[in-house]
Amino acid sequence: MIRLELVGLDSSALCPVGSGHFLTLKTAHAFQQMAQAAQNEGIPIAIASSYRSFDRQSLIWNRKFRGEAPVFDSNSIAINNWHQLSDEARIFFILRWSALPGASRHHWGTDLDIYASSLLPPGQKLQLISSEYDEKGYFGILTQWLDEHMHEFGFFRPYATDQGGVAPEPWHISYYEEAVQFQELLTVEMLEELFIRNPVDGQNTILQLLPTIWERFIINIFGKNSL
Ligand SMILES: [Zn+2]
Repeated sequence: MIRLELVGLDSSALCPVGSGHFLTLKTAHAFQQMAQAAQNEGIPIAIASSYRSFDRQSLIWNRKFRGEAPVFDSNSIAINNWHQLSDEARIFFILRWSALPGASRHHWGTDLDIYASSLLPPGQKLQLISSEYDEKGYFGILTQWLDEHMHEFGFFRPYATDQGGVAPEPWHISYYEEAVQFQELLTVEMLEELFIRNPVDGQNTILQLLPTIWERFIINIFGKNSL
């Protein structure tokens, strides 16, 4: 049976946290406390992305799969022979940077992408790339603050390092206590049922590869052996 709140098809239990963002009540509370603490030290944390629905993730997925939006390799270089690639190759390239619809941690309301708007240089748009968050990047001070303090508020980075699955995402934080519960409830079988009912581009190949995708991209998060 599909649990709708695990796969981005039911957000009714989430609460608004401003600017169109939604989180679970507990995550929102923990985030607000953390943001206040950071603000007190002169680092105003802003949300770039929070809850994302299955439909929204499908739209992102399908645009990339069809070659309507750029897909990047591991060196952040846009792939230019997209239409010559097999479905399987496309799927693995997309998964480096975008989650499979139904399997995004952003479906849960426990995960968010954050930045510090006041640290962006004038005229600079947020890109969500690692160099912005490096020690020498303009969000370096935010990264350092999170390294030191986010655990006090219950947050961790599921994509802290490159484990051969999702590329490192220093901007993506997760409220451990609740996210771990969502993760435990989600199953490969649930995703299979979801795709049969809600097709996305590359459907048949996704279904064939699902056990591999599951191991490499969905449960392969930082510190999984200690979770
Ligand atoms: Zn994210």
